[in-house]
Amino acid sequence: MDAFQSRKDDVTLHLISWEDRWPQLVTGFSTRKEGFSQAPYSGLNCGLHVGDSIDTVIENRKKLAHLVGFPFDTWTCGEQVHGNQVKIVTEEEIGSGRISHKDAIKGIDGLLTDKKGVFLASFYADCVPVFFYARSKEVIGIAHAGWKGTTSRIVEQMLHTLEKNWGVLPQDVFAAIGPSIHECCYEVNNVVMDQVREVLGPDREKVIHMTSDDKGMLNLQETNRILLEKAGVLPDHIELSQLCTGCNTDLFFSHRKEGGKTGRMIAFIGLKEV
Ligand SMILES: [Zn+2]
Repeated sequence: MDAFQSRKDDVTLHLISWEDRWPQLVTGFSTRKEGFSQAPYSGLNCGLHVGDSIDTVIENRKKLAHLVGFPFDTWTCGEQVHGNQVKIVTEEEIGSGRISHKDAIKGIDGLLTDKKGVFLASFYADCVPVFFYARSKEVIGIAHAGWKGTTSRIVEQMLHTLEKNWGVLPQDVFAAIGPSIHECCYEVNNVVMDQVREVLGPDREKVIHMTSDDKGMLNLQETNRILLEKAGVLPDHIELSQLCTGCNTDLFFSHRKEGGKTGRMIAFIGLKEV
């Protein structure tokens, strides 16, 4: 069984082990099932910036908010620029980006908060969502890690911010790597592989399998897992989904498999007000 599974609906996948262990958490990943969008965004497209009707995307987001039981007003989103900048959500920023991409928190790919009742949402069609939970201080986070975010070490930036602001050490952090494009579907060129080689050193052998002189299949999930472990996160504190967005276009949007014009799922995490 995957770390991410549906509970009562087939539309959302939940990070079961975290939610069962810590009932104050709501965390998971949406699928493309149901929803109101038409092709090529059919159906539960949550991306406002992909060319779909804005009103429809907002309807989709509200449907999802209802399904996961977290008020839409509290959805807080970063701009997601494939960088490694991390932001602790301020009171004024709660709700940013939920109805307009322009209002998302600028230049930010990683969000952290210890505020209860805030729903962190970020958007995906192949990139890797990395979830964070520092239980000792009740801090939650989400990082958007495509190959650029991964190789600019966004997971380390998340851990660094957790330690600097809350004094949480990496060994006290739980992390989870969500559904995303896997090695089976993710062929990359030397530009990408050189970045990965530089970041991982000898561990590169574990994540790149060459298919020709200048192309290879890349395992971005394992790349992020190795970076988390190198930074001090304990191996048994890391959950990893085996779900490939490229292999499952009935369930997920895939930028790679669908030629770039498609919708977005969301990765979400929130602490309930109890
Ligand atoms: Zn695949």
